[in-house]
Amino acid sequence: MNCMNDNFGRIINYLRLSVTDRCNLDCSYCKRAASKSQTLMTLDEIQKITRLFAEIGIRKIRLTGGEPLTRTDICEIIYICKNTEGIREVAMTTNGILLSPEKAKELRNAGLDRVNISIDGLDPGKYKQIARAGSLTAALSGINASLAAGLAPIKINTVLMRGVNDGDIERFIALTDDRDVRVRFIEYMPMGGKAEESYISAEEVINARPWLKNHDKVEFICSVSQPFCNQCNRVRVTADCKLRLCLGNNLEFDLREMLLRDNAAELLRNAIAQKPQRGFCDGFVTNRGMGNIGG
Ligand code: SF4
Repeated sequence: MNCMNDNFGRIINYLRLSVTDRCNLDCSYCKRAASKSQTLMTLDEIQKITRLFAEIGIRKIRLTGGEPLTRTDICEIIYICKNTEGIREVAMTTNGILLSPEKAKELRNAGLDRVNISIDGLDPGKYKQIARAGSLTAALSGINASLAAGLAPIKINTVLMRGVNDGDIERFIALTDDRDVRVRFIEYMPMGGKAEESYISAEEVINARPWLKNHDKVEFICSVSQPFCNQCNRVRVTADCKLRLCLGNNLEFDLREMLLRDNAAELLRNAIAQKPQRGFCDGFVTNRGMGNIGG
C-alpha cells in the first residue's frame, strides 16, 4: 500500500472531504459565503476522487461541509468512501440538527465509523445567538441518536469563545458523564488575519481548572497556542472540488482538471508534496470562509 510524504517528511494519510458548502445553520464564526451549489461534487466525482486519494496513501476520510447531512445522497457517499480499497475509516462532522435516530442508523449501516457533533452553546438562547438557526434540543438529541446507532465514541466539538461560552465549560463536560461521549474544546482560529477578541487559550482555561489536565474525556485543540503543523497529516477537498493543502494557506489545485489527466495520481502526489510547512503565517487572510473549506 502506498504512503504519501510531503516535502517536509510528514505522512499525509487523512483527507477532510467537504461534500457541500450548504448549511442549515449560520454560525457567527463561520463566515461561510453563499453556496455555489451548481459546482458541488457528483457521486461519480466523489468515487473517482476517493479512489485517487486512496491510491496515493489516504487511509482516513472525514466528511465535512457546510452541513454534510444536507446532502440527500450522504449515505451513498459514505458507502463509496468506506468501500474504496485502502480507506480504513470514515468519520463525519455535523451540527447534529438532522441526526434523527433513523438517520443515525442509516449512516451507520452505510459504513460510517464515527461522528463529531458541533455544539457551541448549552442554553437555547446562547445556542441561537451563535448558530443563528436550528435548535439546541435537536443538536443534543443527535448525540443520543448517534450513541443508539453505535457510532460511539461521540465527540462534541465546541469552539471556545471568550465571554460567550467559556463560562459553560463544566456544563459541556457534564455531557460526557456516564456515557461514551468526549468534548473537544477548539481554540478560535484567526481566519481573518487579526486575532479575534473572542479568542481564549486552552492554557487559560486549564489554569483556571487544573483538574482538567487529567480529565480523560476532554481534549483541547490548540491550533493557535500550540500549532501542530509539524505533525500535520491532512489535506482537504473543498465542496467545489479544489485540493486545499492547508487550512491556513490559500494554495489550491483544481481536482476536476487533474481527474481529466492519465497521470492524475502523479499530479496529485506532486501537488500534495507542496503542502506548506505551516499555516496561518503572518498576515494570512483566508480566501474562503470556514464553511467553504470544510473546517
Ligand atoms: S495550519 Fe495547515 S499545516 Fe498547520 S495543522 Fe492546520 S492544516 Fe496542518
